Amino acid sequence: MSQDRAVNFGAGPSALPLFALQEAATNLLNFQNTGIGIAEISHRAKEFTGYLAELEARIRKQLDVPPTHKIIFTQGGGTGQFSAVVYNLLARHRLLYPDLADDERRLEYVLTGNWSLKAVEEARRLCTGPRGVGGDVKVVVDARTFSKDGKSFDNIPPHAEYQFSPYTTSSLVHLRTRPPPPALIYYCENETVHGVQFSEDLKSPQSFPFGLLFPPDSDNEEGGGNQPLLPLVGDYSSSFMSRPIPRLADHAVIFAGAQKNLGPAGLTIVIVRQDCLVDAEAAAKLGAAPIPVTLAYKTIADSNSVYNTPSVFAIYVAGLVVENIEKEGGLAHYEQVNRRKKEKLYGVLKEGEEAGVLRRKVQEGSESWMNVVWEVLGQDGLVSKELEQKFLDGATQRGMLSLKGYRSLGGIRASIYNAVTESDVERLVAYIEEFTQAEKE
Ligand code: PLP
Repeated sequence: MSQDRAVNFGAGPSALPLFALQEAATNLLNFQNTGIGIAEISHRAKEFTGYLAELEARIRKQLDVPPTHKIIFTQGGGTGQFSAVVYNLLARHRLLYPDLADDERRLEYVLTGNWSLKAVEEARRLCTGPRGVGGDVKVVVDARTFSKDGKSFDNIPPHAEYQFSPYTTSSLVHLRTRPPPPALIYYCENETVHGVQFSEDLKSPQSFPFGLLFPPDSDNEEGGGNQPLLPLVGDYSSSFMSRPIPRLADHAVIFAGAQKNLGPAGLTIVIVRQDCLVDAEAAAKLGAAPIPVTLAYKTIADSNSVYNTPSVFAIYVAGLVVENIEKEGGLAHYEQVNRRKKEKLYGVLKEGEEAGVLRRKVQEGSESWMNVVWEVLGQDGLVSKELEQKFLDGATQRGMLSLKGYRSLGGIRASIYNAVTESDVERLVAYIEEFTQAEKE
């Protein structure tokens, strides 16, 4: 970390690796000796399209994305994808099952925090009403039901609690004893605001319950051992490129805004299974809502992500960051480092909790690796706004910024994305120890 730079624990936009910022500064003046800066170059210039293709290949390699999936680059952030998945996957459903009524097109959401809630709200807004796009939005599990106080998002519910609708994968109407699969099954892998994350260990009850979605062959009327192509959507905005994605190939769509682990805001990465690149016009002829062109996956994919002007600068910086991930030893390396970082931080918070000074907000087993949230307690054991401020002021004095919790939630949040180094985390850990000692006395 350079002398005059603070450690940025912000949730996004967030810290970027110093070398990428320095390299970007140089290339803002002259990109690859073209004589034109990266923010000025045409998105159709071969230097840029070549760079974009390389970035695609690098992400594909790091995340082990199979050829069944396209990687597309777009804009509109995670919020844009809340809408895009509804339009694209309802169109897909219409093409697969043209005869269903709108309320038979289920959109099933796993609700674990602020961002999955926003996705549910957008789906309801789009689907409902006489001018809505059709589709029945259902919440298959609400994590608040399993919280310590009955109203907070502080956990990933255990597998047994997910109420996915039973479905058949048979495309033959006369074979259907159950309805077809839903149009969309949605989860947010890491809830940036509430600090809960699905476990990467698929045996853990806090991992995503794939087993419930992909039943054994005996439940699959078509048999033959083929996994059905389910429309599983994962919002990976705040954990993308921090560790490998479990069962990536079983997802229909994985999306992420770049502004956490990858680069500046303005770039959205979407990994889409090919069967979800739907012909919007053909679907519209069958009654599906037209897809706004900047949200249509097929349009973006067919034009290699340059249908319209992409966020050239953000793509450029993301390329530098991914190149660095490769140099450092890839996602396997980041997984190890990020695991150590979160273990150190949760470890010291546990000590602060035992001393009666701090309180971790998330139940054990559901803690995010990226966004760590806690509260500061007064002598009475209740949350103390004054001590919270004291903690934040002390952190600022020590060159550690952006630790204030989400605006509507309060508390403290340390976002420890890839660019926050292990020694940055150790610095925070030392300060938490010091604060705990001082307040305990
Ligand atoms: N999903 C998650 C998990 C997020 O953390 C965020 C933003 O922080 C979003 C979606 C929304 O992203 P954007 O602000 O890029 O629309």
